[in-house]
Amino acid sequence: MHLNFIANQTRPSSSGQTIAMLDPSDGQVFAHIQRSNAADIDGAVQAARQCFEGAWSKLDGVERGRLLMRLSRRISECLDELTAIEQRDCGKPTRQARADATALARYFEFYAGACDKLHGDTIPYLNGYSVLTWREPHGVTGHVIPWNYPMQIFGRSVGGALAAGNVCVVKPAEDACLSLLRVAELAAEVGFPAGALNIVTGYGHEVGDALARHPGIDHISFTGSPTVGTVIQQVAAVRHCPVTLELGGKSPQIVFADADLDAALPAIINAIVQNAGQTCSAGSRLLVEQTIYEPLLERLGAAFEALRVGPPSMDLDLGPLIRQSQQQRVWDFLSDAQVAHIPMVAQGRVVDEAPESGFYQAPTLLRDVPPEHRLAQQEVFGPVLCAMPFQGEDQAVALANGTPFGLVAGVWTADGARQFRMARRIRSGQVFINNYGAGGGVELPFGGVKSSGYGREKGFEALQSFTTLKTVAIKHGG
Ligand code: NAD
Repeated sequence: MHLNFIANQTRPSSSGQTIAMLDPSDGQVFAHIQRSNAADIDGAVQAARQCFEGAWSKLDGVERGRLLMRLSRRISECLDELTAIEQRDCGKPTRQARADATALARYFEFYAGACDKLHGDTIPYLNGYSVLTWREPHGVTGHVIPWNYPMQIFGRSVGGALAAGNVCVVKPAEDACLSLLRVAELAAEVGFPAGALNIVTGYGHEVGDALARHPGIDHISFTGSPTVGTVIQQVAAVRHCPVTLELGGKSPQIVFADADLDAALPAIINAIVQNAGQTCSAGSRLLVEQTIYEPLLERLGAAFEALRVGPPSMDLDLGPLIRQSQQQRVWDFLSDAQVAHIPMVAQGRVVDEAPESGFYQAPTLLRDVPPEHRLAQQEVFGPVLCAMPFQGEDQAVALANGTPFGLVAGVWTADGARQFRMARRIRSGQVFINNYGAGGGVELPFGGVKSSGYGREKGFEALQSFTTLKTVAIKHGG
């Protein structure tokens, strides 16, 4: 039984109810978490407020940085344990789960270094005045985290918020939250004051909603679906609470005829099979210049057929999807493809060792997907790559920008001038030229435009979202 973590103590929910956690690899119950409610959120917010006004406010940036660095080191010491927890919880192959744990340590390392480097400006003004700006924390920040990358998204969101001087109340996803409960314990172990980092588990419509509505929450960082992002935004608007929204994507990978295909191919595949396609920045649309459409699909088809899906411990190309409803969602999209006569080029294979009761899905490559079809417009959030041809830059840009989303884009071309033109014309938060994702560096600001959200996390830029600016004007004469 896993309890909430509030004010450096484990606490049961006041509801007395729990939620069963299913192992995606075999669909069996393997743990229970608390089904918390508004009273539990209230307790966490009170603990956080007390900490913000007490112990936390006494720490200067240097001391805060040292605390974050100690947590980073502790996470690194516990890499095997956190990898195993995340693997069980999310069904990730070992390499992916380990990469997530490593990234978590790196987030706290990066933000540890930022704590004492955040400063304002002095502004030239009228004679007799001195004007300066201070970057101040919001206070108690609320963090709603999805299930697909719990550790990475926690690291980027909570790491940035703490570095900026906030204290945090975190609502992880009901499907995957055990690694975050463990990280909160590690934070207490390395000396985080009680109330600086609180984790309250439960359903989104109950405890997530209570968090978004709580008047003691001064800023909300939400990562999840556009639908819930809209709800959070509406709820927060009532009390004018600032929000950062990291939502979904339908990101294009654009391949011109002059591209280095040997370099592009593995990156194109990884961009859609990583985490079994359950990645906000998945490269789920493949736009290919007409002249190389057929040969590229031929090579890609052969590579898809070689992909293997299986239990996380086998560390294959893909693990299972998170839950049965996600599997059903992918099946619905694929049956829509059949109805619309969208040709399937190739599919990978689920290995025999995968239990029938697990949520496995073979990666699928579709071609000639009409740009207006829902397969080309909506997030599948599974391993389905939709290919379509284009002729010339203008059509590539029109297709790339032709969805409600704008999170990430990849462009493959050897033409230097075209690289810049494409980067300028594509509407998205990140553009990658001759790569996809740049290794996910924590230094690189991340976020979307349009229905992919607004505000930025990661990098130094995140500290803007996690602070508010105060202008101080002193009239001294002379
Ligand atoms: P989701 O929106 O269903 O859930 C996300 C979180 O919100 C969960 O913790 C959930 O419990 C909570 N929630 C649900 N209803 C709520 C409510 N009414 N009030 C408050 N909280 C509520 O999303 P998901 O299915 O967990 O994640 C998949 C989605 O997240 C995809 O759209 C994906 O693209 C997006 N995502 C975006 C990023 C990014 O950085 N842009 C990263 C990862 C995932």
